[in-house]
Amino acid sequence: MNCRLIATTASAFMLCNVAAHAQDIHEHGSSTLQIVREGNAVTLRLDAPAMDLIGFEHEAETDEQHAAITSAQEKLSDPLGLFGIPEEAGCVLDHTQFEGPLSEPVGELVAGHHGHDDDHDRDTEHADVIVEYEFTCANPAAVTRLDSAFFAAFSSARELNLQVVTENGQFQQLLTPAMPSASWQ
Ligand SMILES: [Zn+2]
Repeated sequence: MNCRLIATTASAFMLCNVAAHAQDIHEHGSSTLQIVREGNAVTLRLDAPAMDLIGFEHEAETDEQHAAITSAQEKLSDPLGLFGIPEEAGCVLDHTQFEGPLSEPVGELVAGHHGHDDDHDRDTEHADVIVEYEFTCANPAAVTRLDSAFFAAFSSARELNLQVVTENGQFQQLLTPAMPSASWQ
C-alpha cells in the first residue's frame, strides 16, 4: 500500500494513495486531482487517462500523435494556470514529475502491459498519465480554491475528481466543464 504520514501541529493521519485507486478504475473522461497542503508545501497530483490528454493510449506513430504529446506536455507545464491556483498564494513550482506515457521521450510512448504489437491487442490497452507537482507557497492559507482551465485545455476531459487534504481536514468535489471551480477551508 502506498501511504505516507502527514504530520501537522494539530494532528497526524495517514494519507493513502487514493489516486492509485482512481487509476485502477481508468475511465475515459474521468481524472483525479489530489491536492495536499501542509505548511508551505503544496503538492498536486493529476491522474488522467492518456486518452483524455493526448487522444490515444498506444505508442506514438504519426507526426500528429507526437505533436499531441508535445502539446499536452506544454499545457501540463503550467499547473498554476491549468488548475487556477490563486496568485495570492505565492506558489512557486519546485519540481514536476511525470509518470506514464508523457515521461517517455517523444517517440517512445508505450502503453502499459504491451507485449504484442498488433492493432488487435492495442484495442485493449490503456495508459494513465500521472503528473506530480511540488510547490512552495509564501501564503499557503490562500490555497483554498481553484478555478480550473483543465477542461478548456483538454476537451475530452469530462470530470475531475478533486480531493484536497489540508491541516483543516479533507474535501472532495467533482469538477465538470459546467462547474470547474471549487473552494474549501
Ligand atoms: Zn484507456
